[in-house]
This record gives sequence, structure tokens and C-alpha cells, in this order.
Amino acid sequence: MVGADPENAPLAAGTTQSIAELDALISTCRACPRLVAWREEAARIKRAAFRDEEYWARPVPGFGPDDAEILVVGLAPAANGGNRTGRMFTGDRSGDVLFAALHAVGLATGAHPVSVDDGIELRNTRLTAPVHCAPPENKPTSSERLRCAAYLTRELELLAPTVRVIVVLGGFGWQALFTVLAQGGWVIPRPRPRFGHGAQLTLNHPDGRTLTVLGCYHVSPHNTFTGRLTPTMLEDIFRTAINLTHAAPPLPS
Ligand code: SF4
Repeated sequence: MVGADPENAPLAAGTTQSIAELDALISTCRACPRLVAWREEAARIKRAAFRDEEYWARPVPGFGPDDAEILVVGLAPAANGGNRTGRMFTGDRSGDVLFAALHAVGLATGAHPVSVDDGIELRNTRLTAPVHCAPPENKPTSSERLRCAAYLTRELELLAPTVRVIVVLGGFGWQALFTVLAQGGWVIPRPRPRFGHGAQLTLNHPDGRTLTVLGCYHVSPHNTFTGRLTPTMLEDIFRTAINLTHAAPPLPS
């Protein structure tokens, strides 16, 4: 609900009635003082290459259609990437790697995301994060993650009619997602599944829905520059996700 108190905006997440309304609410949020200060500081200092640009410097909402079957869960926006451009995985090396793979398998219309008006669209895929503000050293605190989880919880509820596969980029997103899924009533095996590249798990919900979660190394330079995550590995994960959407049983009516 836009108009909610920005310091307490996560409390209003459950009242949003559409993905567009949720995205609008997220973009107003100021609930984490440390992250508000960091995102605005990054916009003041600016990386030299972007010194003539006006940074978004607000929470970055998800990106992609509101009826997607595939949801990609990352970590958080980068200070000079999404925090600058205002769109998830746009304007940095991580985004370039991710969109190149999405484009290669047909899930994105372009491979080089640079700005919100670059014309790129996602097909049947939505990108989101468990933390919507850029954190120092890409490390949100557990309290920041828990506070922001209200948005991922609501996003999953609003996507429930369509989402069939979740690709999780990295262990942080994996941990955050399973906490949210457990709260949403999904039956989670015990011990809780461990993150790993290629990990695959199909979950059941008491209402009859099924959901497959796929683990993938994060697209950060730390993984892609070292070859821990190659373009082929990433594309293979998304091809698996596409195949799973084709094989998924019908949703309960
Ligand atoms: S991290 Fe999430 S809860 Fe915290 S200020 Fe940003 S959008 Fe709000």
C-alpha cells in the first residue's frame, strides 16, 4: 500500500493486492537505517565512471512479469549497480552475466542490461532478492534480512497462481528463501536442504501446489572471474528450470 509509513513499510506488505502495488511499496521503504544511509552514501560518493549519473538510491523492487513461472532469487542490489539504475541486476558485471545467460536460453530479450529504459524484457521470469537495498560489502545483517522478508513472502503469495520453479543464486538467498517458504506453509524436509550448485528439490504445499527450488552459484565476479560459475553452468540451470515448467503438474483449481 503506497502511502504507508516508510519506516514501517514492511508491515504493509501483506496488504498489497498486486505485484505492481508491492513494487511501489518496496521502493518507498526506509525501515533499515543502516541500509538507507549506505544506499544514499553510495549515491553521494558515486563511482568515477558514473559521476554524471543520478543514482536511484532507493530500494530496488523485483523485475519481470507478474505471472512468471520462474522466479530468480539473488542476494541484494549492488551499490553501483541496481542502486544506481533502479532495476535488479542492471548496470554491473553480475547483471551482465545473468542476462547473458537468460538471453541465451530465451528468457530475456536482451543480454546487456544498462538502465531501466534499455528495452529489455523478461519472458516468464521474474528477478527478485531477499534484501532490496544495497548493503555494505554485500552483507545484510540477519535483522535486515528478516525485516525485508515480508516483501519476499508477499511476492511469493502474489505469484502463487503461476510460479513453478525458483532459481536461487547463492547460499544467502537459499537460506532466506527457505525461511520464507516454511512460513508460507510449504513442507520443508528436515534437516533443511543445504545449498549447492545444481541442488534441486521439489516441495509440496498442503493446498496441492508443487514448487521446485534449484540452487545456483551467485553470479558475482567472485564466482564468475574465477571460473567457479561459467556461462555454460548458468545456462544449464536455466534450461533445467524451463524444462521443469514444462513438466510441472497442473496447478490445483
Ligand atoms: S532492506 Fe528491505 S526492509 Fe530494509 S529498508 Fe530496504 S527495502 Fe526496507
